[in-house]
Order: sequence, then C-alpha cells, then structure tokens
Amino acid sequence: MSDTVSPSSRPRVLSGMRPTGKLHLGNYMGALANWVKLQDSGQYECYFFIADWHALTTDYADTSNIEPNSREVILDYLAAGLDPAKTVLFQQSRISQHAELPLLLGMITPLGWLERVPSYKEMQENLTNKDLTTYGFLGYPVLMASDILLYQPKYVPVGQDQQAHVELTREVARRFNNFYKLNNREVLPEPDVLLTPSPKLPGTDGRKMSKSYGNTILISDPEPIVRQKLKTMVTDPARIRRKDPGDPDKCPVGDLHKVFSTPETLAKVYDGCRSAGIGCIECKGWAADALVQILNPIQERRARFTPGEVEDILKDGSDRARTRAEQTMVEVRAAMKLTPAAK
Ligand code: SF4
Repeated sequence: MSDTVSPSSRPRVLSGMRPTGKLHLGNYMGALANWVKLQDSGQYECYFFIADWHALTTDYADTSNIEPNSREVILDYLAAGLDPAKTVLFQQSRISQHAELPLLLGMITPLGWLERVPSYKEMQENLTNKDLTTYGFLGYPVLMASDILLYQPKYVPVGQDQQAHVELTREVARRFNNFYKLNNREVLPEPDVLLTPSPKLPGTDGRKMSKSYGNTILISDPEPIVRQKLKTMVTDPARIRRKDPGDPDKCPVGDLHKVFSTPETLAKVYDGCRSAGIGCIECKGWAADALVQILNPIQERRARFTPGEVEDILKDGSDRARTRAEQTMVEVRAAMKLTPAAK
C-alpha cells in the first residue's frame, strides 16, 4: 500500500464506468480502448475507476449484482490493457470522500441545474419499470461532479454524448470557487473535456450496441459465441437474395468492418457486396475473423488474473486514490471554513 501520492508533472486524466456487468465492444471502443491509449502514451497521470455507487441510483431495490458486476468490470479493465503499474485503478465505494464531497456540493447546486440534465428525463421515461423519482437519482450529477473534482484532473476523456456532464461539473466547480476560496486561491479547478473517438458501433439488431437492448458482443465472449452472434446480425435489408447487390454503408456488418477490418478486407467487402460477388455469410465470417483477432489477446490477459490479484489491485489503487482525494477534501473543508485553514 502506498502512503503518499507522488506528485506528477503530467496532466491528470480521470474517468469511470458504472458496473453494469461484463463490458461489450461498444464500451471498449467508446471508452476503454481510448483509456489504454492515454495510459500508454505516457503523457498523462491516469485515474480510472468503477462507479459502483452510481449503480445504486437506478438499482437500489436489488443491489445483489453490483459487487459481482464491479469484479467483472475491473477484470475487463485489466484485460483491455489498463496496467496498475501505470494507472490508478480504484473503486468509488472504497473511498468515503466520494460521499462527503457530494454532500457539500449538493448544498450549493441549484435544483434547476439537475432537472435540465438531458439524461434525467430521458432515463425516467425509458426505465419505466423503476421508480426514479428519488433524491439519489436527481442528485447523481452531483455525485459525478464530485467523483471528478476530488482528483482535480486536467482532463476528463469522454465521448460526444457525455460532454453535458462535464459541463455541469465545471459549473458546480465555478459556483464553489465563487463562494469559497482558500488563501484567495480557487481549490476546485474546472476540468476540460478530452474528446475521444467513439465510432458508430451497432449491436446485432442494428441499433446502437447497448446492454439494455440485449444486442451486445461482449469483449469476453469466446470465439464460437462471437461467430454465432455475427451470424444472427441484421444486414442491408436490400439484400434479400444472394444475387441482390447491397451497400455496406447501409449494413450494420459493414459498420463493424469499418471499425475492425483491414483496408484490404474493407475493399473486398465494398466490391463484393455492391456486385453481389460475396454472400452475407462469407462477409460476416470476415467480420468475425477481425473481431476474434482483437479479442483474443484481451481474453488471454483476462484469464491470467486470479481473484486474489484483482482484490490486491483494487485495494492498492483505492488506497492511492483515497490519499489523493483526501488532499482535495482538506482544502475543501478549509475553504468552507469547516476546519481551520492550514498554515
Ligand atoms: S455482404 Fe456484408 S456488408 Fe453487404 S449486406 Fe451482406 S453482410 Fe452487409
């Protein structure tokens, strides 16, 4: 266990995911693969975490999956290439400062800011089987802002659709800094968005890949399952018979090729599909080949970690993160005059 967090001159980046279970290709391409690149560039001090308290905002009635799902997510982080020697990997619920800061920031956050967050109404409308008229659900953006501000990151890597959350975090930080200062200094720097590529990734039914649609390909799916899922994937509706030409730009399998296949394979797909020279089964086989090639090393890494090693990694990372979070809380409490200012 590390007692101190060594200062780094590199800009800090921080991001996390809710533990919804084993991660799928959409999670991988939209976030995880980008995080690994940021880590491996050596330019950033990286903090990545499992936002398990966030799962409570919608799954409070049955919490039995949250802990096992957190284990699967950390395994997927490690499998994808996040390395605890280079990156601080931690679990939100192990760090009580993640509960303290939202309590304090909640005091200054106007209700209207929370009600206008796009996902607030959207999720209430979509998750009709759950009662989301709770204090915790309305307040989750404050929890998210606190998760970020605790580590004073320079950047939060997100895809386009997550930018609103970082904007709210910036507004909360600005409001805090307007009310409170420590020795005339602002203590919660506003983080910037680091826009990361988030390619269009359809699920097997052609809609956006999402666990709630049941159309995912998991990064831990074994090869036969990947091939089977590909076989059932929808294609360009214009290709009813083998001799009908199609268009990869109107086909979800074509979208997968664009993300995962080599330029040579992609050229064969365009030629063969538009001339009806190839069948969809053959084309799907090529897409499966490309996926399996990417997933094989990820799955080999996943199989190497024992439960004991995973626990050690989470414990050590959470200890390091807690030390950093407490540094921020010391300043926050002092700026709010809840404790005497440090001399
Ligand atoms: S050949 Fe490939 S790209 Fe064309 S419709 Fe069939 S699966 Fe889609």
